[in-house]
Amino acid sequence: MKRDDIGKWAPETLAAQTLFGTDPVNGMIVPSIHPSTTYLRDPDNQYRHGRVYSRADNPGYEVAAGVLAALEGGEEALLFASGMAAATAVFLALQPGDHVIAPKMMYWALRRWLGDTATRWGLEVELVETEDAAAVKAAIRPGKTKLIWLETPANPVWSITDIAAIAEIAREAGAKLAVDSTVATPILTKPLSLGADIVMHSATKYLNGHSDVVAGALVTAAKDDFWARISTNLSGVGGVLGPFEAWLLQRGMRTLLVRVKAACAGAMYLAQRLSNHDLVSEVLYPGLPHFPGHAVAASQMQGGFGGMLSIRVKKGEAAAIATAAKVELWQRATSLGGVESLIEHRASVEGPTSPVPPDLLRLSVGLENPNDLYEDLVTALSVASR
Ligand code: PLP
Repeated sequence: MKRDDIGKWAPETLAAQTLFGTDPVNGMIVPSIHPSTTYLRDPDNQYRHGRVYSRADNPGYEVAAGVLAALEGGEEALLFASGMAAATAVFLALQPGDHVIAPKMMYWALRRWLGDTATRWGLEVELVETEDAAAVKAAIRPGKTKLIWLETPANPVWSITDIAAIAEIAREAGAKLAVDSTVATPILTKPLSLGADIVMHSATKYLNGHSDVVAGALVTAAKDDFWARISTNLSGVGGVLGPFEAWLLQRGMRTLLVRVKAACAGAMYLAQRLSNHDLVSEVLYPGLPHFPGHAVAASQMQGGFGGMLSIRVKKGEAAAIATAAKVELWQRATSLGGVESLIEHRASVEGPTSPVPPDLLRLSVGLENPNDLYEDLVTALSVASR
Protein backbone atom coordinates (compact mmCIF):
# COMPACT_ATOMS: atom_id res chain seq x y z
CA MET A 1 0.00 0.00 0.00
CA LYS A 2 1.32 3.45 -0.91
CA ARG A 3 0.70 6.21 1.64
CA ASP A 4 -0.41 8.60 -1.08
CA ASP A 5 -3.28 6.23 -1.83
CA ILE A 6 -4.95 6.54 1.61
CA GLY A 7 -8.10 8.11 0.17
CA LYS A 8 -8.53 5.20 -2.22
CA TRP A 9 -8.99 2.37 0.32
CA ALA A 10 -11.72 1.33 2.77
CA PRO A 11 -11.09 1.54 6.55
CA GLU A 12 -10.55 -2.20 6.99
CA THR A 13 -7.96 -2.14 4.21
CA LEU A 14 -6.07 0.74 5.84
CA ALA A 15 -6.16 -0.95 9.24
CA ALA A 16 -5.26 -4.44 8.01
CA GLN A 17 -2.15 -3.21 6.23
CA THR A 18 -1.34 -0.48 8.81
CA LEU A 19 -0.53 1.92 5.93
CA PHE A 20 2.88 0.30 6.01
CA GLY A 21 3.14 -1.65 2.77
CA THR A 22 6.61 -3.20 2.72
CA ASP A 23 9.95 -2.13 4.07
CA PRO A 24 12.05 -0.90 1.09
CA VAL A 25 15.35 -2.22 2.55
CA ASN A 26 14.53 -5.77 3.74
CA GLY A 27 11.10 -6.37 2.25
CA MET A 28 9.49 -6.89 5.68
CA ILE A 29 5.70 -6.78 5.57
CA VAL A 30 5.41 -5.88 9.28
CA PRO A 31 6.58 -2.55 10.73
CA SER A 32 9.63 -2.52 13.04
CA ILE A 33 9.98 -1.43 16.66
CA HIS A 34 12.17 1.65 17.11
CA PRO A 35 13.76 1.61 20.58
CA SER A 36 16.35 4.36 20.00
CA THR A 37 15.77 7.30 22.33
CA THR A 38 17.99 9.65 20.35
CA TYR A 39 19.05 10.39 16.76
CA LEU A 40 22.34 11.28 15.13
CA ARG A 41 23.25 14.90 14.51
CA ASP A 42 25.11 15.44 11.22
CA PRO A 43 28.73 16.75 11.29
CA ASP A 44 27.52 20.11 10.01
CA ASN A 45 25.28 20.44 13.12
CA GLN A 46 22.03 19.69 11.25
CA TYR A 47 19.48 16.93 11.91
CA ARG A 48 18.96 15.81 8.32
CA HIS A 49 17.04 12.64 9.32
CA GLY A 50 14.41 14.97 10.78
CA ARG A 51 14.34 13.56 14.34
CA VAL A 52 16.17 14.65 17.47
CA TYR A 53 14.87 12.85 20.57
CA SER A 54 12.15 10.26 21.18
CA ARG A 55 10.14 12.25 23.74
CA ALA A 56 9.09 14.42 20.81
CA ASP A 57 8.93 11.86 18.09
CA ASN A 58 9.51 8.20 17.15
CA PRO A 59 9.05 6.61 13.70
CA GLY A 60 7.01 3.85 15.38
CA TYR A 61 4.27 6.34 16.30
CA GLU A 62 3.57 7.06 12.66
CA VAL A 63 2.01 3.67 11.97
CA ALA A 64 -0.74 3.62 14.64
CA ALA A 65 -1.22 7.41 14.49
CA GLY A 66 -1.43 7.34 10.69
CA VAL A 67 -4.03 4.55 10.65
CA LEU A 68 -6.09 6.27 13.34
CA ALA A 69 -6.03 9.66 11.57
CA ALA A 70 -7.12 7.94 8.34
CA LEU A 71 -9.93 6.01 10.10
CA GLU A 72 -11.23 9.13 11.85
CA GLY A 73 -10.83 11.32 8.75
CA GLY A 74 -8.58 13.71 10.70
CA GLU A 75 -5.59 15.78 9.72
CA GLU A 76 -3.25 14.37 12.37
CA ALA A 77 -3.25 11.99 15.34
CA LEU A 78 -1.01 11.98 18.41
CA LEU A 79 -0.31 9.00 20.67
CA PHE A 80 -0.08 9.37 24.45
CA ALA A 81 1.02 7.15 27.34
CA SER A 82 -2.64 6.59 28.36
CA GLY A 83 -6.16 7.71 27.62
CA MET A 84 -5.96 9.99 30.67
CA ALA A 85 -2.76 11.61 29.33
CA ALA A 86 -4.56 12.26 26.02
CA ALA A 87 -7.74 13.63 27.61
CA THR A 88 -5.98 15.88 30.12
CA ALA A 89 -3.72 17.30 27.37
CA VAL A 90 -6.85 18.81 25.78
CA PHE A 91 -7.93 20.55 29.01
CA LEU A 92 -4.38 21.72 29.74
CA ALA A 93 -4.31 23.47 26.34
CA LEU A 94 -6.96 25.90 27.72
CA GLN A 95 -6.23 28.97 29.87
CA PRO A 96 -6.99 29.22 33.59
CA GLY A 97 -10.36 30.98 33.89
CA ASP A 98 -11.83 29.29 30.82
CA HIS A 99 -15.25 27.68 31.23
CA VAL A 100 -15.67 24.06 30.10
CA ILE A 101 -18.78 21.92 29.81
CA ALA A 102 -18.50 18.16 30.38
CA PRO A 103 -21.09 15.38 30.85
CA LYS A 104 -22.53 14.45 34.24
CA MET A 105 -22.23 10.80 33.21
CA MET A 106 -18.73 10.08 31.94
CA TYR A 107 -15.59 8.05 32.58
CA TRP A 108 -15.26 8.55 36.32
CA ALA A 109 -11.48 9.13 36.61
CA LEU A 110 -11.66 12.03 34.17
CA ARG A 111 -14.69 13.46 36.00
CA ARG A 112 -12.68 13.23 39.24
CA TRP A 113 -9.63 14.92 37.60
CA LEU A 114 -11.86 17.74 36.29
CA GLY A 115 -13.35 18.33 39.74
CA ASP A 116 -9.97 18.26 41.41
CA THR A 117 -6.81 19.07 39.43
CA ALA A 118 -8.43 20.99 36.56
CA THR A 119 -10.46 23.09 38.96
CA ARG A 120 -7.44 23.85 41.16
CA TRP A 121 -5.57 24.78 37.97
CA GLY A 122 -8.24 27.42 37.31
CA LEU A 123 -10.69 25.89 34.82
CA GLU A 124 -14.37 26.49 35.53
CA VAL A 125 -15.82 23.03 35.00
CA GLU A 126 -19.58 22.61 34.65
CA LEU A 127 -21.13 19.14 34.46
CA VAL A 128 -24.26 19.04 32.30
CA GLU A 129 -26.56 16.32 30.97
CA THR A 130 -25.12 16.57 27.49
CA GLU A 131 -27.78 14.17 26.12
CA ASP A 132 -30.04 17.24 26.41
CA ALA A 133 -28.83 19.76 23.79
CA ALA A 134 -31.00 22.51 25.32
CA ALA A 135 -29.20 22.05 28.67
CA VAL A 136 -25.83 22.39 26.93
CA LYS A 137 -26.99 25.54 25.15
CA ALA A 138 -28.25 27.03 28.41
CA ALA A 139 -24.89 26.34 30.08
CA ILE A 140 -22.88 28.30 27.48
CA ARG A 141 -21.24 31.40 28.94
CA PRO A 142 -20.69 33.68 25.93
CA GLY A 143 -17.01 34.50 25.45
CA LYS A 144 -15.98 32.26 28.38
CA THR A 145 -16.94 28.73 27.29
CA LYS A 146 -13.91 27.44 25.39
CA LEU A 147 -14.47 23.68 25.33
CA ILE A 148 -17.36 21.22 25.30
CA TRP A 149 -16.29 17.66 26.16
CA LEU A 150 -18.53 14.73 25.25
CA GLU A 151 -18.44 11.00 25.78
CA THR A 152 -20.83 8.91 23.71
CA PRO A 153 -21.87 6.20 24.44
CA ALA A 154 -21.02 7.31 28.00
CA ASN A 155 -19.73 5.10 30.80
CA PRO A 156 -21.37 3.12 32.32
CA VAL A 157 -25.02 3.72 31.40
CA TRP A 158 -24.19 4.22 27.68
CA SER A 159 -26.18 7.45 27.35
CA ILE A 160 -26.02 8.92 23.86
CA THR A 161 -25.21 12.52 22.98
CA ASP A 162 -26.06 13.97 19.57
CA ILE A 163 -22.61 15.05 18.39
CA ALA A 164 -23.87 17.08 15.39
CA ALA A 165 -26.34 19.05 17.54
CA ILE A 166 -23.69 19.90 20.14
CA ALA A 167 -21.19 20.76 17.38
CA GLU A 168 -23.55 23.45 16.19
CA ILE A 169 -23.85 24.89 19.72
CA ALA A 170 -20.05 24.81 20.11
CA ARG A 171 -19.53 26.53 16.76
CA GLU A 172 -21.98 29.33 17.61
CA ALA A 173 -20.25 29.81 20.99
CA GLY A 174 -16.75 29.79 19.48
CA ALA A 175 -15.86 26.80 21.67
CA LYS A 176 -13.96 23.66 20.69
CA LEU A 177 -15.79 20.34 20.73
CA ALA A 178 -13.87 17.23 21.85
CA VAL A 179 -15.41 13.74 21.92
CA ASP A 180 -14.25 10.72 23.91
CA SER A 181 -15.12 8.08 21.30
CA THR A 182 -13.41 5.17 23.06
CA VAL A 183 -16.54 3.03 23.16
CA ALA A 184 -17.79 3.85 19.65
CA THR A 185 -14.38 3.45 17.95
CA PRO A 186 -13.85 4.96 14.46
CA ILE A 187 -15.52 1.85 13.04
CA LEU A 188 -18.95 2.92 14.37
CA THR A 189 -18.77 6.73 14.67
CA LYS A 190 -16.61 9.43 13.10
CA PRO A 191 -17.10 12.49 15.34
CA LEU A 192 -15.02 14.80 13.10
CA SER A 193 -17.44 14.24 10.23
CA LEU A 194 -20.26 15.30 12.61
CA GLY A 195 -18.53 18.61 13.41
CA ALA A 196 -16.23 17.78 16.36
CA ASP A 197 -12.78 19.39 16.46
CA ILE A 198 -10.98 16.65 18.37
CA VAL A 199 -11.56 12.93 18.98
CA MET A 200 -10.06 11.19 21.98
CA HIS A 201 -9.51 7.45 22.51
CA SER A 202 -8.35 5.38 25.39
CA ALA A 203 -6.36 3.19 22.99
CA THR A 204 -6.05 0.78 25.92
CA LYS A 205 -9.53 -0.41 24.94
CA TYR A 206 -10.77 -1.39 21.47
CA LEU A 207 -7.95 0.14 19.41
CA ASN A 208 -5.38 -2.17 20.98
CA GLY A 209 -8.02 -4.71 21.92
CA HIS A 210 -5.93 -7.30 23.77
CA SER A 211 -5.73 -5.89 27.32
CA ASP A 212 -1.94 -5.67 27.09
CA VAL A 213 -1.22 -1.98 26.37
CA VAL A 214 -2.11 1.26 28.16
CA ALA A 215 -2.24 4.03 25.54
CA GLY A 216 -4.20 7.09 24.47
CA ALA A 217 -4.74 9.05 21.29
CA LEU A 218 -6.12 12.33 20.00
CA VAL A 219 -7.11 13.11 16.43
CA THR A 220 -7.70 16.63 15.15
CA ALA A 221 -9.83 17.98 12.32
CA ALA A 222 -7.35 20.85 11.79
CA LYS A 223 -3.77 21.60 12.74
CA ASP A 224 -4.65 24.95 14.35
CA ASP A 225 -3.21 26.87 17.35
CA PHE A 226 -5.19 24.79 19.85
CA TRP A 227 -3.76 21.58 18.39
CA ALA A 228 -0.26 23.12 18.44
CA ARG A 229 -0.66 23.72 22.20
CA ILE A 230 -1.80 20.11 22.71
CA SER A 231 1.14 18.84 20.71
CA THR A 232 3.53 21.00 22.75
CA ASN A 233 1.94 19.61 25.93
CA LEU A 234 2.64 16.05 24.75
CA SER A 235 6.39 16.48 24.45
CA GLY A 236 6.58 19.12 27.20
CA VAL A 237 4.76 17.14 29.87
CA GLY A 238 6.26 13.97 28.44
CA GLY A 239 3.34 11.54 28.62
CA VAL A 240 4.59 9.73 25.51
CA LEU A 241 4.01 6.13 24.49
CA GLY A 242 6.89 3.65 24.64
CA PRO A 243 8.06 2.22 21.29
CA PHE A 244 7.06 -1.34 22.18
CA GLU A 245 3.56 -0.19 23.23
CA ALA A 246 3.23 1.79 19.97
CA TRP A 247 4.11 -1.37 18.07
CA LEU A 248 1.60 -3.50 20.00
CA LEU A 249 -1.03 -0.84 19.39
CA GLN A 250 -0.58 -0.91 15.61
CA ARG A 251 -0.72 -4.71 15.71
CA GLY A 252 -4.00 -4.64 17.63
CA MET A 253 -5.47 -2.08 15.25
CA ARG A 254 -4.99 -4.43 12.29
CA THR A 255 -8.00 -6.45 13.47
CA LEU A 256 -10.06 -3.55 14.81
CA LEU A 257 -12.90 -3.89 12.35
CA VAL A 258 -13.59 -7.59 12.86
CA ARG A 259 -13.23 -7.32 16.65
CA VAL A 260 -15.64 -4.38 16.89
CA LYS A 261 -18.21 -6.05 14.64
CA ALA A 262 -18.09 -9.28 16.66
CA ALA A 263 -18.34 -7.38 19.98
CA CYS A 264 -21.37 -5.43 18.66
CA ALA A 265 -23.11 -8.65 17.59
CA GLY A 266 -22.38 -10.31 20.95
CA ALA A 267 -23.58 -7.28 22.93
CA MET A 268 -26.80 -7.06 20.93
CA TYR A 269 -27.47 -10.78 21.45
CA LEU A 270 -26.94 -10.45 25.21
CA ALA A 271 -28.94 -7.21 25.47
CA GLN A 272 -31.94 -8.79 23.75
CA ARG A 273 -31.88 -12.01 25.75
CA LEU A 274 -31.19 -10.33 29.11
CA SER A 275 -34.09 -7.89 28.48
CA ASN A 276 -36.43 -10.85 28.89
CA HIS A 277 -34.81 -12.24 32.02
CA ASP A 278 -36.77 -12.20 35.30
CA LEU A 279 -33.78 -11.32 37.48
CA VAL A 280 -32.76 -8.27 35.42
CA SER A 281 -34.74 -5.08 36.01
CA GLU A 282 -33.18 -3.09 33.17
CA VAL A 283 -30.73 -3.56 30.30
CA LEU A 284 -28.85 -0.44 29.26
CA TYR A 285 -27.76 -0.74 25.62
CA PRO A 286 -28.13 1.87 22.84
CA GLY A 287 -29.13 -0.83 20.35
CA LEU A 288 -32.42 -1.59 22.14
CA PRO A 289 -35.33 0.28 20.53
CA HIS A 290 -36.74 1.54 23.87
CA PHE A 291 -33.34 2.92 25.03
CA PRO A 292 -33.66 6.74 25.38
CA GLY A 293 -30.82 7.60 22.98
CA HIS A 294 -31.60 4.85 20.46
CA ALA A 295 -32.73 7.10 17.59
CA VAL A 296 -29.64 9.32 17.82
CA ALA A 297 -27.41 6.26 18.18
CA ALA A 298 -29.00 4.70 15.10
CA SER A 299 -28.10 7.77 13.06
CA GLN A 300 -24.61 8.52 14.39
CA MET A 301 -23.37 4.93 14.89
CA GLN A 302 -22.95 2.92 11.70
CA GLY A 303 -22.81 -0.86 11.69
CA GLY A 304 -23.51 -1.51 15.37
CA PHE A 305 -24.15 -0.05 18.82
CA GLY A 306 -20.91 -1.06 20.51
CA GLY A 307 -19.70 -3.93 22.64
CA MET A 308 -20.63 -2.39 26.01
CA LEU A 309 -23.85 -2.86 27.95
CA SER A 310 -24.95 -2.75 31.57
CA ILE A 311 -27.62 -4.61 33.48
CA ARG A 312 -29.43 -3.69 36.66
CA VAL A 313 -29.95 -6.67 38.95
CA LYS A 314 -33.52 -6.89 40.27
CA LYS A 315 -32.54 -8.10 43.74
CA GLY A 316 -30.26 -5.08 44.30
CA GLU A 317 -26.64 -4.23 45.07
CA ALA A 318 -25.71 -7.33 47.11
CA ALA A 319 -27.06 -9.62 44.39
CA ALA A 320 -25.17 -7.65 41.72
CA ILE A 321 -21.88 -8.02 43.63
CA ALA A 322 -22.63 -11.71 44.23
CA THR A 323 -23.38 -12.24 40.51
CA ALA A 324 -19.97 -10.85 39.58
CA ALA A 325 -18.46 -13.19 42.20
CA LYS A 326 -20.19 -16.27 40.77
CA VAL A 327 -19.37 -16.03 37.04
CA GLU A 328 -16.88 -18.53 35.68
CA LEU A 329 -16.35 -17.36 32.10
CA TRP A 330 -16.60 -13.57 32.42
CA GLN A 331 -13.44 -12.06 33.91
CA ARG A 332 -14.06 -9.94 37.02
CA ALA A 333 -11.92 -6.94 36.12
CA THR A 334 -12.03 -3.26 35.22
CA SER A 335 -11.39 -1.88 31.69
CA LEU A 336 -13.16 -2.74 28.44
CA GLY A 337 -12.69 -3.46 24.75
CA GLY A 338 -10.48 -6.55 24.99
CA VAL A 339 -10.97 -9.95 23.36
CA GLU A 340 -12.03 -11.43 26.72
CA SER A 341 -15.35 -10.40 28.30
CA LEU A 342 -15.25 -8.43 31.54
CA ILE A 343 -17.82 -7.90 34.28
CA GLU A 344 -17.65 -5.16 36.88
CA HIS A 345 -19.72 -3.70 39.70
CA ARG A 346 -19.06 -0.04 38.88
CA ALA A 347 -20.38 1.53 42.09
CA SER A 348 -17.69 -0.38 44.04
CA VAL A 349 -15.05 1.20 41.81
CA GLU A 350 -16.40 4.73 41.72
CA GLY A 351 -17.25 5.15 45.41
CA PRO A 352 -20.04 6.96 47.28
CA THR A 353 -20.11 10.14 45.13
CA SER A 354 -20.77 8.14 41.96
CA PRO A 355 -24.07 8.70 40.10
CA VAL A 356 -24.01 5.03 39.01
CA PRO A 357 -26.90 2.90 40.34
CA PRO A 358 -25.61 0.44 42.99
CA ASP A 359 -27.38 -2.53 41.36
CA LEU A 360 -25.55 -2.01 38.03
CA LEU A 361 -23.11 -4.47 36.47
CA ARG A 362 -21.03 -3.25 33.51
CA LEU A 363 -20.37 -5.83 30.80
CA SER A 364 -17.61 -5.56 28.19
CA VAL A 365 -18.38 -8.16 25.53
CA GLY A 366 -15.37 -9.84 23.97
CA LEU A 367 -15.05 -12.50 21.31
CA GLU A 368 -16.32 -15.59 23.15
CA ASN A 369 -19.43 -17.38 21.95
CA PRO A 370 -22.34 -15.07 23.02
CA ASN A 371 -24.47 -18.03 24.14
CA ASP A 372 -21.66 -19.22 26.44
CA LEU A 373 -21.52 -15.71 27.92
CA TYR A 374 -25.30 -15.66 28.39
CA GLU A 375 -25.44 -19.06 30.09
CA ASP A 376 -22.57 -18.21 32.45
CA LEU A 377 -24.14 -14.88 33.42
CA VAL A 378 -27.67 -16.14 34.01
CA THR A 379 -26.38 -19.10 36.04
CA ALA A 380 -24.48 -16.65 38.26
CA LEU A 381 -27.53 -14.36 38.45
CA SER A 382 -29.81 -17.14 39.64
CA VAL A 383 -27.34 -18.43 42.25
CA ALA A 384 -26.71 -14.86 43.50
CA SER A 385 -30.40 -13.91 43.61
CA ARG A 386 -31.55 -16.85 45.76
N1 PLP B 1 -12.21 7.20 28.47
C1 PLP B 1 -12.93 6.09 28.64
C2 PLP B 1 -14.30 6.02 28.03
C3 PLP B 1 -12.42 5.03 29.39
O1 PLP B 1 -13.16 3.91 29.57
C4 PLP B 1 -11.12 5.14 29.96
C5 PLP B 1 -10.55 4.04 30.77
O2 PLP B 1 -11.26 3.19 31.28
C6 PLP B 1 -10.40 6.31 29.75
C7 PLP B 1 -10.96 7.32 28.99
C8 PLP B 1 -9.02 6.48 30.33
O3 PLP B 1 -8.13 5.74 29.58
P1 PLP B 1 -6.77 5.06 30.17
O4 PLP B 1 -7.18 4.05 31.18
O5 PLP B 1 -6.14 4.50 28.94
O6 PLP B 1 -5.97 6.18 30.77
